[in-house]
Amino acid sequence: MTLRLPLSTLMTRAQAVKTATVGNRVYLRGLIEFSNRCRKNCYYCGIRNGNRTIGRYELTDEEVLHAVDFAWRNRYGSIVLQSGERQSAHFTARITRLLQQIKRHTQGEIGITLSCGEQSADVYRRWFEAGAHRYLLRIETSSPALYAKIHPRNPTHDFDTRLAALHHLKTIGYRTGTGVMIGLPFQTIDDMENDLRFFQQMNIDMIGMGPYIEHRDTPLYRYRDLLLPPAQRLELALKMVAALRLLMPHINIAATTALQTLHPAGREQALRAGANVFMPNITPMKYRNDYRLYDNKPCLHDAPSLCNDCTATRIQNAGDKIAYGEWGDRCNFEL
Ligand code: SAM
Ligand code: SF4
Repeated sequence: MTLRLPLSTLMTRAQAVKTATVGNRVYLRGLIEFSNRCRKNCYYCGIRNGNRTIGRYELTDEEVLHAVDFAWRNRYGSIVLQSGERQSAHFTARITRLLQQIKRHTQGEIGITLSCGEQSADVYRRWFEAGAHRYLLRIETSSPALYAKIHPRNPTHDFDTRLAALHHLKTIGYRTGTGVMIGLPFQTIDDMENDLRFFQQMNIDMIGMGPYIEHRDTPLYRYRDLLLPPAQRLELALKMVAALRLLMPHINIAATTALQTLHPAGREQALRAGANVFMPNITPMKYRNDYRLYDNKPCLHDAPSLCNDCTATRIQNAGDKIAYGEWGDRCNFEL
């Protein structure tokens, strides 16, 4: 199927489809990594609960609002609030309060995406009512067998629970995003083609998928010899983006940060392969080092203002334009 075609063929076709459908406009989502505290132990992730080598942090309300204000004033259409997964009543209430504050502060202008892992349908509903309208929950892989290999075997890391959470999000009315990691140990081309079919069957609104990158303080690191070399992993990730644009012409596809770890221009290449969403990191500098999901994560030292210039240049280099101040949701008539 598609992933076996040469990258240049896929990119040429995807670029034409992108221009004819979503156009050459790129939506900005300011990424706020507001806490690295997590109850889970995913085998691939640098902020997993069992990693004792990092300091744990949580932004204050003021720090979150300051970052939101930066995004709003710079006419980013939306922000993404991302964190490790926690399910306490305190955490739920805090997110609810923050959502209301953000809506008030920006006079309802800024769009809010949440990415805080698996929660009950009730919690998702409360956050939706408080102002979040998009949610990003990667399925990580659509293969239950591979999912079981990259997570501990216990009810906290259950494929069916994650899938059910995605269904809850859709039922509640969120613009629902998901995604996978590309180039995982044990992953096959068939697995990835099935991932693309999964996105289509779920009629997903947006995708954030990127290469798997090893982290030395995680259990999956011991399988690093099974990984494709960086250039081939990048090629595969770009093929996935291009193939998805061909399969789902109208959805939002992010040019993810992990691509830039494999190549300095990895995110621009993703825009050329069909992506149309860019997520500048606007987390306060002092916390960036402790949100290292994988080794050599980029943008650890770029202040948000610098990030602004860098984002504009990268998008321009890819031949696209920033759609300032727009939420950039897939229109209903295209669903
Ligand atoms: N905790 C929430 C969750 O898991 O949905 C949101 C935050 S989590 C850090 C966001 C994403 O980071 C995960 O869905 C996963 O795909 C990605 N990630 C974690 N470790 C990674 C790695 N080593 N390489 C590439 N992506 C990784
Ligand atoms: Fe926690 Fe998300 Fe990392 Fe899993 S991927 S350990 S849930 S932050």
